[in-house]
Amino acid sequence: MSVWVLATDPDQLEPLVAAGRQAGVEVAVVAVGSRELAEAAAVSGADQVRWIQTHDAVPPEAYAPQVAALARGAGAGARVWLAGNAPAARALLGAAAVAAGAALVGGGLSLAFEGGVVVLDRVILAGAVIETLEAAGKLAVIWESSGAGDAVGGAVGGAVGVPIEEVLAAAAPGAGAGGPAPWDMRREATQVAATAAGLADAPRVVGVGRGLRSRADLVVVEELARALGAEIACSMPLADDLHWFPEERYIGRSGQKIAPRVYLALGIAGEPQHMEGVRNAKVVAAVNNDPGATVFRHATYGIVGDLYEVAPALTRALEHN
Ligand SMILES: Cc1cc2nc3c(=O)[nH]c(=O)nc-3n(C[C@H](O)[C@H](O)[C@H](O)COP(=O)(O)OP(=O)(O)OC[C@H]3O[C@@H](n4cnc5c(N)ncnc54)[C@H](O)[C@@H]3O)c2cc1C
Repeated sequence: MSVWVLATDPDQLEPLVAAGRQAGVEVAVVAVGSRELAEAAAVSGADQVRWIQTHDAVPPEAYAPQVAALARGAGAGARVWLAGNAPAARALLGAAAVAAGAALVGGGLSLAFEGGVVVLDRVILAGAVIETLEAAGKLAVIWESSGAGDAVGGAVGGAVGVPIEEVLAAAAPGAGAGGPAPWDMRREATQVAATAAGLADAPRVVGVGRGLRSRADLVVVEELARALGAEIACSMPLADDLHWFPEERYIGRSGQKIAPRVYLALGIAGEPQHMEGVRNAKVVAAVNNDPGATVFRHATYGIVGDLYEVAPALTRALEHN
């Protein structure tokens, strides 16, 4: 029995390898990216490392055919495939799942093998419920936890490097078939206004949560942010479930960590997973209509009230200043 880990970024290695280790089985890493990534994988505590070297202009997810070939070949015996919750890693995991005939599920928190059965705890419904899945067959799991402090534990201590086996990109379907090579691409990035980059440096950030009833109501938040000269961020459900914001805009343990001078939380409950992302904010202010909301425990200033009344009032006050 073995766990295969797909990694496109060094940050993904530690929690995924630790999850496999805790399950007590052999762990193999498929590193899709630079030589540095493969070297990090070699000392991550994994038993085997395969490296698919990416070309400069080619996004990692474009190597899905090589990953699928591995899943059908050397990785055919893997019982569980794991990948982090990042777009490229998720795409590659999809390819591995199809090739391996594995059921693809999200929200992985912890993994165990009991007898011949895979037992997976995973989070669903935006963190409101943790369910236990028991699978007799193969699983491909998008891992929710990331980084130190999560349920799967910290770094694998005293790890000794293992050899890196390079999987030749030339083995890719499409290469050498007469047409252009799959890596014959050009990439050009254009920064758009709503990026995490603006958020990371912003001195003022207005964060909005499920207290907002509809997407159309975002105008209330936008007007306040404009008056305050603030960036807008959100809680995880608004990005992950409702898709009102791009993923880069949610704050928290699995999202962005920011350090503004002021973080104003509107209609956000203040769960620890969210507040972890604003731990380094100088001042946290909160508006919530529930006087018992957890967010008030983290806030320097709090207003118990309806954000639909308080936010426009704050906007008016700022505009008349
Ligand atoms: C492994 C894991 C990782 C997670 N990572 C993150 C993460 O990185 N970031 C994150 O945000 N979450 C994360 N979560 C989810 C987190 O636990 C919470 O479920 C989520 O943050 C709740 O979002 P919310 O506060 O917007 O919604 P809710 O919990 O629904 O809270 C809405 C709040 O709005 C208030 N409200 C309602 N109406 C109004 C109104 N009219 N005016 C004012 N207030 C109002 C309510 O009183 C309530 O407090 C994670 C969960 C798990 C299990």
